[in-house]
Amino acid sequence: MNKFHKLESRVTVPIYEKIAPTTRSHLTKVKTEKLYKYYKCDYCGDEIRIEKKKQEMTGGIVILPHTLTKRGELKLAVCNKCLRSILKEFEEVKQ
Ligand SMILES: [Zn+2]
Repeated sequence: MNKFHKLESRVTVPIYEKIAPTTRSHLTKVKTEKLYKYYKCDYCGDEIRIEKKKQEMTGGIVILPHTLTKRGELKLAVCNKCLRSILKEFEEVKQ
């Protein structure tokens, strides 16, 4: 068992929305502005901004096959700098 165990019951990877700080004008009109959407890295918690061009993203969704997790497919939001550590962790579990 590893720390991704709790993620197995998760059906989809949550998408978060970054919202700009609300600016209250003198007309008492509160305007919320959506800035961008992002995933949260399941390993370090960093934001992974969702871009139209996938190659510009700092990470993405990784699907680990059940041959690696031993318990079924596991979807993870992973930033580029954590990808290697996560794969290593599963490799170690396998042995
Ligand atoms: Zn990360």
